[in-house]
Amino acid sequence: MGNYVSDCEAKSLIVEIGKRMYNKGFVSGSDGNITIKVDDNAVWATPTGVCKGYMTEDMLLKLDLDGHIIEKGDLNSTSEIKMHLRVYKENADIQAVVHAHPPMGTAFSVAGMPIDMPMMAENVVFLGVIPIAPYALPGSQEVPDSVAPFCKDYNGCFLANHGTLTWGENPLEAYYRLESLENSCYIQTTLTQLNKMQLLTEEQVNDLYDLRKRAGFKRGGMMKR
Ligand SMILES: [Zn+2]
Repeated sequence: MGNYVSDCEAKSLIVEIGKRMYNKGFVSGSDGNITIKVDDNAVWATPTGVCKGYMTEDMLLKLDLDGHIIEKGDLNSTSEIKMHLRVYKENADIQAVVHAHPPMGTAFSVAGMPIDMPMMAENVVFLGVIPIAPYALPGSQEVPDSVAPFCKDYNGCFLANHGTLTWGENPLEAYYRLESLENSCYIQTTLTQLNKMQLLTEEQVNDLYDLRKRAGFKRGGMMKR
């Protein structure tokens, strides 16, 4: 806890991450949202109805963890803010949350396929297992409830038939986990097509869990072999 980015840094990071998300095709139209925590009870957030690739800092909103608006311009908050705020409430170590609809990750969310295979070091150490949060009507209270069980032990989850949610102890970590998630979905799909899966051995995976702990990553779950 503590050691937050400043209001200024949070706003410029949200704009930058929005551009990267959009340019990489992780969101289309006005999909997706980003929040960054700036003190124990405040986050900056993307507004609803705006393309995340073309945001300016004056479009962003500041809210408390109950969703009350502290500061805003002309644009309104998104109904998806509730799942972001729930992640912060469930785990005080989290300082940024990113929601997107990346094509491969969203396909996994529709297929109900978690990322849980130890394919390479990065997906064991940095990303870890990405479980599936059960489907909930967008904007409903069931969405944050569906995500809550995963916030302490994992670095993100699929939202069934919807998209992805990743989080981190700093803003770029939350965004890079989205990149890593999409990359892992590509690789897992390609491996399935190649029909030749040579996963890391149990011993190799255990060594990576040790490495993960030493590197200070507190979450990630246990991969299946
Ligand atoms: Zn969405």
